[in-house]
Amino acid sequence: MFRDAERFTAHRPTQRKAAPAYQRESGSLAGSVYTALVHKARIVMPTLSENLILNRCPHCSVANPNLRRQYHLETNNHAANMRRFWGVYVCGTCGGVVTAWSIQQNQEVIEHFPISASVDEDIPERPKTFLKQAQESLHAPSGAVLLAASAVDAMLKQRGYAQGSLYARIEKAANDHVLTSEMASWAHAVRLDANDQRHADEAATLPSGEDAKRVLEFALALGEYLFVLPKRIERGIKGGGKGG
Ligand SMILES: [Zn+2]
Repeated sequence: MFRDAERFTAHRPTQRKAAPAYQRESGSLAGSVYTALVHKARIVMPTLSENLILNRCPHCSVANPNLRRQYHLETNNHAANMRRFWGVYVCGTCGGVVTAWSIQQNQEVIEHFPISASVDEDIPERPKTFLKQAQESLHAPSGAVLLAASAVDAMLKQRGYAQGSLYARIEKAANDHVLTSEMASWAHAVRLDANDQRHADEAATLPSGEDAKRVLEFALALGEYLFVLPKRIERGIKGGGKGG
C-alpha cells in the first residue's frame, strides 16, 4: 500500500467529462466485470483519481463530499487475470472511508464501497420523499430522525392507519398483523426518538449519527416490508414465477 504522495489541493472538476471510451483489456476478468456492471447500472462513474467525485458521502450523506485519496494499491487474483487499482478515500466531513477500484489509474471507477443507499421506487411518493430527505440529512441527526419518523407515519397512513396518535396506529397495525410485534416494538422506539427531537426535551440526549442511521434503517425496512416485497411478489406471480 502506498501513502498518497499528493498533498491536498482544492482541485475538483466542475463538470465531469463524458465517460471515456473504455479500453478493455481483452480476456481480462476485470474487463468482463466492467462490461457487466455498466450494462446493469447504466450510470456514469467517477474516475480513480486524487478526489473521488460522488454526489453524496455514502456514510454521512453530505452533498458534494470532499473524498480525498489517502492510499492507493494494486491487487490481482490468484489466476493473475484480475488486476485492479484501488483508491482509499476519506470523507472530509465525517472521516468515513470509501474504497474504489478501476482497471487503470485515472480511469472510470468500476465499483465503490460502501455503495450509496437508495430508496426503492416501489415505496409510495410521500414516504419515499421523507426517506430520501432523511438519507440526505444523516449529517444532521436530529433532522434525520424526524424525517425517518415522518416516513413511518406516512407509510402507516398509506396502509389505512390514519386515525389517532402514531402510537395507537402502530398498535392497531400490529393487532391486525400488518406489522409483526417485533416491528411494532421497533416502530415505537423510532416514534419515541422522534418525540424527543420534536419537543426538544432538554432531558433527552441528542441523537448521534449512529442513532439516526438506526432509525432510518428501521424506516427503510418497514418500506421494504409494507410495499416493496408485496409488489415484488405480485410481479412474480404475474410473470409466472419468472422473476421480475
Ligand atoms: Zn461523510
